[in-house]
Amino acid sequence: MTVRTRIAPSPTGFLHLGTARTALYSWAYARHFGGQFVLRIEDTDVARSTQESVDQILDAMHWLGLSYDEGPVHQMHRLPRYHQVAEAMIAAGTAYRCYCTPEELDAMREAQRARGEKTRYDGRWRPEPGKTLPLPPAGVQPVVRFRNPTSGNVSWDDLVKGTISIANAEFDDLILLRPPTADAPDGALGVPTYNFAVVVDDIDMRITHVFRGDEHINNTPWQINIFRALGAPLPQYGHCPIILGADGLKLSKRRGAVSVMAYEEAGYLPEAMLNYLARLGWSHGDDELFSREQMVQWFDGSHMARSPAQWDAAKLAWVNAHYVKLADDARLAALAVRHLATLGVAADAADPRLAQRCALFKDRCATLVELARWIAMFEQPAPPSAEDRAAHLGAAAQPALRALRERLATATWDKTGIAQAIKETLAEHKLKMPQLAIPLRVAVCGRTQTPAIDAVLALFDRVTVIERLSAALA
Ligand code: GLU
Repeated sequence: MTVRTRIAPSPTGFLHLGTARTALYSWAYARHFGGQFVLRIEDTDVARSTQESVDQILDAMHWLGLSYDEGPVHQMHRLPRYHQVAEAMIAAGTAYRCYCTPEELDAMREAQRARGEKTRYDGRWRPEPGKTLPLPPAGVQPVVRFRNPTSGNVSWDDLVKGTISIANAEFDDLILLRPPTADAPDGALGVPTYNFAVVVDDIDMRITHVFRGDEHINNTPWQINIFRALGAPLPQYGHCPIILGADGLKLSKRRGAVSVMAYEEAGYLPEAMLNYLARLGWSHGDDELFSREQMVQWFDGSHMARSPAQWDAAKLAWVNAHYVKLADDARLAALAVRHLATLGVAADAADPRLAQRCALFKDRCATLVELARWIAMFEQPAPPSAEDRAAHLGAAAQPALRALRERLATATWDKTGIAQAIKETLAEHKLKMPQLAIPLRVAVCGRTQTPAIDAVLALFDRVTVIERLSAALA
């Protein structure tokens, strides 16, 4: 058996973190077993699906490096196939047309509520042996419903949750096809619902394993019954618990970013997102930091967490800091350009000094945005705060800063030359390193802490350093 997995986002918004996580599991599972991973766009909610959202989903998949072997397959391109399957089911007696109007359904639910019953379709158009069905009313476009079994249980061995069993009595006859448009000819069929299209597709795409969010657990029995009605083998399901926000409630737009690409914008690296997302629902011993390759090597569907994980922004920042530190300087330079642009700094990725600046600061940055903030100080004024000015640029610091400025005007402009100028100034003024280095940092970088100051200054233009020292001496 070739393992085939899929991710099936609905293009009604951006790719959110929960979907990215199940995409990662599906991808890694397929890669682990040498199988295939398919991307399917579930766009049958025509009113809410947009091309913009499809593009965002594709961008996010690309950014995360979750490469798919087939797709994107759009469900709305497959309507004839769903109709064909529905016709076959109607012919086989496992599906039927239902002519209830929305008003009738409302009245049905109202009456059920009044009787204190659970609201559900009452099966009035469901064919039964010996039952006489009403005559189809004129002018009503029918839906097609699934003739769900009324007794017994649906059970499956969930890869994440273990055995799940739900009684068929819990389920009414699901709509497979929505009504066709009012002007459609007699016998026309409408757009499929999620639960129907998903089964037809999972069968046609020969999907063997489905990882998805556990909000779908209540859909799975219907889907399993449809698989059975179609005589198709079932995939194995793994329903992953939802991701909770830091406040213990479901992660949502209102409580912080849930879009994958919002993290790209905030300066996270894709490998950090993948690493962090992977751990939010799966573990490999105590390993917290691992590469994509290790994940593929380890991810076999075992050790999946059964209970919801909580989003931990501090841990994600820690993971990201690790990958920023590991990242190649030229890559960081290329990535920093847009974050610098956001800060109003035009940078050239090919400028070797940009990569050198990244190299110098990457150890102290959790995100590329932080990195860009450091690097911006080379190009943009970095005036010290009034407190730092008062504390570090007073009369005591001035003579040495002035002397250093004179030396720097003619020093060889590299780390060694600058270090030499600092050393001579310290000796001349009988100062210890911090007594000069801190005022120097405050004057040039607008802050008291930086990496080694000779290395930092070497990445400035000489004229900028001289100008900032002059401003501090004024
Ligand atoms: N379109 C569904 C969703 O985005 C897919 C669920 C599934 O994987 O079956 O939730």
